[in-house]
Amino acid sequence: MSNSEPDQAASFAGLGIDDRVLRALSGVGYETPSPIQLATIPHLVAGHDVVGLAQTGTGKTAAFATPILTKIDETLARPQALILTPTRELAIQVAEAFGRYSAHMPGIRVLPIYGGQSYGVQLAGLRRGAHIIVGTPGRVIDHLTRGTLDISQLRFLVLDEADEMLKMGFQEDVERILTMAPDDRQSALFSATMPRVIRDLSRTYLRDPAEVTIKSTTKTSDTINQRWVLVSHARKLDALTRFLEVEPFDAMLIFVRTKQATDELAEKLRARGFTATSLNGDIPQPVRERIVGELRAGKIDILVATDVVARGLDVERISHVVNFDIPTDNDSYVHRIGRTGRAGRSGEALLFVTPRERRLLRSIERSTGQPLEETQVPTVEDVNAQRVSRFEDTITENLSNSDLALFRRLIEGYEREHDVCMADIAAALAVQTTDGSAFFLKPDPPERARSERPGRDVREKSTGKFGERPGGGRRRSGDRRMATYRINVGKKNKVAPGAIVGALANEGGLNREDFGYIDIRSDYSLVELPADLPSEVFDALRSTRIGGVRISLRREEGAAAAPGRDRDRGRPGGFDERPRKSFRDRG
Ligand code: AMP
Repeated sequence: MSNSEPDQAASFAGLGIDDRVLRALSGVGYETPSPIQLATIPHLVAGHDVVGLAQTGTGKTAAFATPILTKIDETLARPQALILTPTRELAIQVAEAFGRYSAHMPGIRVLPIYGGQSYGVQLAGLRRGAHIIVGTPGRVIDHLTRGTLDISQLRFLVLDEADEMLKMGFQEDVERILTMAPDDRQSALFSATMPRVIRDLSRTYLRDPAEVTIKSTTKTSDTINQRWVLVSHARKLDALTRFLEVEPFDAMLIFVRTKQATDELAEKLRARGFTATSLNGDIPQPVRERIVGELRAGKIDILVATDVVARGLDVERISHVVNFDIPTDNDSYVHRIGRTGRAGRSGEALLFVTPRERRLLRSIERSTGQPLEETQVPTVEDVNAQRVSRFEDTITENLSNSDLALFRRLIEGYEREHDVCMADIAAALAVQTTDGSAFFLKPDPPERARSERPGRDVREKSTGKFGERPGGGRRRSGDRRMATYRINVGKKNKVAPGAIVGALANEGGLNREDFGYIDIRSDYSLVELPADLPSEVFDALRSTRIGGVRISLRREEGAAAAPGRDRDRGRPGGFDERPRKSFRDRG
């Protein structure tokens, strides 16, 4: 409801976090706790269970990691904390975050265990002793049943992205793990949505949990034109520089999450020829004031800042606010974009959204009650047209320069003496000031071959836009060859398509779009997967568990292989020759 500035910045200091963790947070550049952290950390530090409605990008990892690190017994190198995540990518990310937050606790060992990685590495890690295990449910169950993971000393259990885990068919595995963990453990459950099944799970397995939801009712000003663009993490900088080249702006404020990121991004922009300045909490107040003064006076046009330092910034010239990193909460979004469109002017707000952050975008839209318009990263052609137009503008501008007559005389003399045409002379002069080989932006590189593609997060749907990873879904439309594989679990094992996708995606590093039709029959299932599945992926898939059963997977050949609708239509010929279908085609 309010559009006022936020209160005095909250700090991590009063939340009961261990000093070494506090130092690490400051080291990674977090200035203030995000709302989910503010609301969750005190409960967890006090030993209560927590259910948090929070999605990726809100800072939920630090919300559970910092209390765990505060309370963990460093002298006992046995699994004391277990974090369950739906995908291996998230498991790795969470384990890395624990590593960063425990930078000043050298004795702490964090071990990610997930499908698709060799057991050898994980067994060695487990034997060496780890305080914190971050894993996907299937692989965790595997280690528990083999007796290679002992959770009898477990004190903390976290379900991260619980709704995703259930969607991927891990409910049974998750419940088994919850049952096997000691009763006196502390639990936290984080989920972006709260469907009934998650509520039931928390009622059954958590003890009187504190429920944490971050509500926002803040409204945005309608003088601000709000747009969002899908862009992968790796291509954000390129995308930003294209917008900088193509969008006419007066002054631009670019928001990033951490102090370090302000310096890094400003540096990268300078390296690409933009005069950008960073503004963060480490910069002494008088210097900050000077920078803002320079922005106001038009001596600086691009400022890269964190939320804290930009709070209350009132500079009419700011025509654009770019959320380079999506804010961790909706209020912060509103306050950030409120730095433009001031004093009755109109303003432009642009939000970068990576594929994983789409939910956060929806949440921002819901809370502000205003849909954002989707836009695209300017193309190479847009950028190049702009470069040509700027080049021409420079010529036009200089035609009125008072030194023109002097150089005109010299050049006319040169023309007479050397018999060179005027266009060549002009081009030779342009070459003096501009590197011709870098004048035009090069076309986007061709997509990488599928075999080079790293394991992908099944939730990152490719869309054929700047947001996809290289080699991503632009080829979805039909040039991939699919083959049918038979799995020895079916209706009698009560498997759902989600369980098959979840297990195979985690073990084989497949993307949701690698799946074609799934046909679950009474005692087996047929699944369409890429025909060119590399042998290591095939091997990994062959030792996967679905619904607790170790599966066998084999390639089906011939017409009988056709699952689902195509089989019913009696389509002749082998499946291998069919173009791929999207998993979503099944509806
Ligand atoms: P998460 O929701 O845990 O995936 O975090 C999203 C991103 O926010 C990560 O890049 C974190 O490093 C970053 N982050 C988490 N907490 C904070 C904070 N208090 N201040 C700035 N960035 C944060």
